[in-house]
Amino acid sequence: MNDCIFCKIVKGEIPCHKIYEDDNFLAFLDINPVSVGHTLLIPKNHYRWVYDIPNFGDFFNTAQKLALTIKNSPLNPEFISFLTMGNEVPHAHVHIIPRSQNDPIQPVLSSIPHLKLSEEKFLETKELLKSK
Ligand code: 5GP
Ligand code: ZN
Repeated sequence: MNDCIFCKIVKGEIPCHKIYEDDNFLAFLDINPVSVGHTLLIPKNHYRWVYDIPNFGDFFNTAQKLALTIKNSPLNPEFISFLTMGNEVPHAHVHIIPRSQNDPIQPVLSSIPHLKLSEEKFLETKELLKSK
């Protein structure tokens, strides 16, 4: 996509701090990190959402490899969080975020109002979604 910032990074039109690249995927440091080592993994082809990526398994295998590389690096985070939001940049990506127990990152869902659903609604939803 011509006006997509991550496509421009793939094409080398915008610089990035690249930490991994193969034929299908690219990983680079987030320009506005929430922790040191905050990394974005993207497919080189433009897809809107991560579940649109045809080789979805390979994508997350690569995310796991990067997470373990970061985990075992001198950054030495206690654990790694994965996050797929996609609100800001409409090119599929996963955030790979080095974490520690005492860091200021709040659980993302805790800031959102939660629904109170009836048992009937849960049962109805389950029927709509369960695999045949
Ligand atoms: P999301 O779409 O998942 O809400 O967030 C997109 C992420 O991409 C943000 O964390 C933002 O800091 C990062 N980002 C946006 N533009 C650039 C850029 O040009 N270079 C890099 N390295 N990161 C970017
Ligand atoms: Zn794109």
